[in-house]
Amino acid sequence: MRMVTRQEIEKSMDIIHNLSEEETYEWIHVMQEEQPFLQIYVAAICERGDFEDDNDIDAFTNLAIIIWHAMRTAAQGPLAEVKGYEIDEREEALIEHFNSVEGEAEADVMNAVQTWLEDDPQRPLLEFLLMTLMSPENPYEVTEESTGMLLVYLKVIAECLDHASPQKEAKAPAKKVLHPGQCMRCQAVLNKANMTNHLKKCKEKAGGSNERGVEMFHLLIESVPLPMYWLHVEIPGTKTLADLDAFLRGIWLECCGHMSCFTIEGTHYVSSPMEESIFGRREKSMRQKIYTILRMGMKFKYAYDYGSTTDLKLRVVDIHKQQVKKSGVTLLARNQPPPWECTGCGKPATQVQAGGWGIDPDFLYCDDCAADADEDDLLPIVNSPRTGVCGYCG
Ligand SMILES: [Zn+2]
Ligand SMILES: [Zn+2]
Ligand SMILES: [Zn+2]
Repeated sequence: MRMVTRQEIEKSMDIIHNLSEEETYEWIHVMQEEQPFLQIYVAAICERGDFEDDNDIDAFTNLAIIIWHAMRTAAQGPLAEVKGYEIDEREEALIEHFNSVEGEAEADVMNAVQTWLEDDPQRPLLEFLLMTLMSPENPYEVTEESTGMLLVYLKVIAECLDHASPQKEAKAPAKKVLHPGQCMRCQAVLNKANMTNHLKKCKEKAGGSNERGVEMFHLLIESVPLPMYWLHVEIPGTKTLADLDAFLRGIWLECCGHMSCFTIEGTHYVSSPMEESIFGRREKSMRQKIYTILRMGMKFKYAYDYGSTTDLKLRVVDIHKQQVKKSGVTLLARNQPPPWECTGCGKPATQVQAGGWGIDPDFLYCDDCAADADEDDLLPIVNSPRTGVCGYCG
């Protein structure tokens, strides 16, 4: 793509910094839809503990969104999806380069950075990052030790997007991502964006709320990198996070009893108290009751398995009182199986190459192509964001 000017990147910074919380959420959502693998990359870096300081993590996520926003704006619309392996390759090359100059005299390091900049097709953007991270004003207050790695990771993102061509077909108004799913009460099939409203109406028809009933929490649960996987569930406030954990494992996640964790307002609620210590001091067990922790509108996170993690985000979309016959977690609606296509022939895919990334559109097979590919490392495609991860078979 063309070079992003200094003015453009500063304008994007201005826009991103002045968003309301709701608007920020919307932009993150757009990024997830357009660049799921970059989103996973950003999340993974935040999780893997390279940065000790929360400021560094905030600076990284913030600048990553600004880069994406500026480059997307310069391209006048969405860029082609960056693939997981491209990110890996670029990161590997840049880290190698970075390590080769680390520890050299400061003048040599500055020289290396200078050459870096001169060769870069997105030089103004890189200079902007350098200035933002290294200037005395340092608006993000990042720690000095982190500056180098922050620059490397952000350059990986900028390079990947620089090589992604503008997506012509994305401009056609018909191409909207709809992620359909089904209401369990009335069997209606609706798009993801319309389901919350539908469920409210559908609930009223089925009896609605009742002041003498049990307090029920209606949650929207979504896969973080794969927005086509989503659930609406209802759980009584007297149930615990452990009950919700068990439900998520049952419907979407359980492969071999990995650990899991809810992160709610900075506190970790972990499944396995024996190993709580890996999180430091701020963790609790999942035996907390839902009504003592969740409030209307609250957003929180969930992660299953710390090796090859499946990340989910959750939101309390409604709290109401209701007479209930069954006191467990109720599934209100669920996405329909996404129509993944075989990488080889375009027919409906049934299998995916097993690997840490899970669903990768470049490694999907129909039964015929799977037989031809002679791959033994295949897993079935099931209706879950954990498809293709660890040994998950549904
Ligand atoms: Zn319905
Ligand atoms: Zn497993
Ligand atoms: Zn095929």
